Amino acid sequence: MSLTTKSLTPCTGPHCGSYRAGHQIHFIHANHVGRTPWGWRDAVVTAITGLTVHLAYVDHDSALEVWHHQPLADTLAVGDPVRLHEQYYVLDTPSGWHCVRVLDGGLGDVPTPEQPALWAPETTNPIVDLATGVAITELPRVWWRLWSAPGSTQSRLLGSHATVMMRLRSNSIGESHPSLL
Ligand SMILES: [Zn+2]
Repeated sequence: MSLTTKSLTPCTGPHCGSYRAGHQIHFIHANHVGRTPWGWRDAVVTAITGLTVHLAYVDHDSALEVWHHQPLADTLAVGDPVRLHEQYYVLDTPSGWHCVRVLDGGLGDVPTPEQPALWAPETTNPIVDLATGVAITELPRVWWRLWSAPGSTQSRLLGSHATVMMRLRSNSIGESHPSLL
């Protein structure tokens, strides 16, 4: 059962100044998300009612609801693929990372992998738009283009993209992860 709106923290001021769950994302918050790419789970939008987005996980039999302080109906439609990072309560959409509050359902944090360094190619350095409180990153935009492409060969392209990213990072920081090459 969903929480009532009374349980949700209201926006502060005419222009939201809140960084609580469901409101603006703070750049430190966004950086935490960027450094924990294993925390995402793929989901599909099943309904949008007001400020609540209903989701179903792709790889898990679990439905859930998330709340955002502004309507996401202009950004999302039923059937759209999204990603949810439960540990840091962020919803990845085509318009960026939105801080959300998980109202109902959810599986909890994705456990930290034994070798977080292997995820280095997928880490991101988000930028927070202070006018909207939404974080934007480069990698998700590539991800979105691939995902939405007709007859998508997303797996192959994503794989090659990850390899390129990893090589760039390897060159820039003087490390390598031979197991990924
Ligand atoms: Zn707000």
